[in-house]
Amino acid sequence: MSEELKNGFKVRTIDGRIANVQKRLGGGGQGDVYLVDYNNTPMALKWYKKGVMNNPQAFYENLVDNKEHGAPSAEFLWPVDVTEWIDGTFGYIMPLKPNGYYEVSDFMLTNVRFKSYKIAIDAALKIVSAYRLLHNDGYSYQDLNDGNFFINPQNGKVLICDNDNVAPDKTETGIIGKPRYMAPEIVMKNNMPNSLSDLFSMSVILFILFCMTHPLEGKRSLEPCLSPALQEKLYGSEALFIMDPTNRENGPHPIVHKNVNIVWPCLPKYMQDLFLKAFSQKALENPNARPKELEWIQNLVRFRSEIVRCSCGNEVFTQDGKPCVCEKCHKKINIPFRLEFSDYAIPGISDSRIYRCQLGVCRADEALKPIGRVIAKKDNSGMLGVRNLSDKSWNAVTPSGKAKHVTPDEIIPLKDGISFVIGDEKICIKSN
Ligand SMILES: [Zn+2]
Repeated sequence: MSEELKNGFKVRTIDGRIANVQKRLGGGGQGDVYLVDYNNTPMALKWYKKGVMNNPQAFYENLVDNKEHGAPSAEFLWPVDVTEWIDGTFGYIMPLKPNGYYEVSDFMLTNVRFKSYKIAIDAALKIVSAYRLLHNDGYSYQDLNDGNFFINPQNGKVLICDNDNVAPDKTETGIIGKPRYMAPEIVMKNNMPNSLSDLFSMSVILFILFCMTHPLEGKRSLEPCLSPALQEKLYGSEALFIMDPTNRENGPHPIVHKNVNIVWPCLPKYMQDLFLKAFSQKALENPNARPKELEWIQNLVRFRSEIVRCSCGNEVFTQDGKPCVCEKCHKKINIPFRLEFSDYAIPGISDSRIYRCQLGVCRADEALKPIGRVIAKKDNSGMLGVRNLSDKSWNAVTPSGKAKHVTPDEIIPLKDGISFVIGDEKICIKSN
């Protein structure tokens, strides 16, 4: 049998269904992806080339296990069925990728741009959440790369594909990833892929989404030919962050890396600090020093809540929940109130949200649960209040010291001096 499947080729699956090949959609090193008719539904079939795996039997069994386990969430284009073996190879069935989704590398080449910063942050949050789900289920990615994520720049939705390389933590699937997205210890073959090396790959992707530049590809990467030995240094033994403040040897080239020079100074300090931590020499060498998913979620949520849209359409990064001037139209952004948490403040404007991860210690899986939301009165948009979206009552205190119980669904008016306690966190409403 030739390597490529012909249109009309039929293969039986382990669930007893037939996949009928309609057309080839694309290919890669491991195999090709085809549009198939699967039980009268258009689906994708990934069909492996022979001889690309060290241990095809183990790979097949891992694939069947993943299929039986089911997708961790709807974002995963997960194997839904696995074919029978034909002539020493096999494939699996997964949902088709809808239109409007792009790979991470498209964002790096700036072929695609997010509709807005908020949408970029939404995509980043979805990627972090997907990792968290995967790691909670005891899996790790093994071969995480830019082709694993499809991102919709219009709405921030994310699809995760190539889940055939997902395996229980520290399992050898014999699939070698691209060094650009691999943690230094994997590049140097000092360890097998696991959830801590995934954390590194994840931070590479987040940096690319925000700064449109690879975090380790500074001046040192500008070689006419990146030989395997040079790649090992760049991504492994001598990995150095492009924005490392103490060693500028791999800093950005003013023309080639102009995107990072434009975006980096605009990022809030806490986001810069998080990237500096993720790509510090300490975290490059010691996987345990890498920021965990919850830390990313907490900072991304804060970042999201500080962005306010001006009436001219421009997104403005506010600070400390205070009014500021739009740098595009020079109009003052009206932020009548701020909500003060213990560490920082967010603008108290219509649709501002309070998430669980902003209220002290929490589990990563509850981090993005909305707990409160600022709403405007229907007939008077100047009248604002925070609605209790949780299932517990809050204790509020009025400026005159009167205690009040705020039951679920009740609203606290935004008024200077009112404070309320949710869990361990005290939030103060202040007028600007
Ligand atoms: Zn403006």
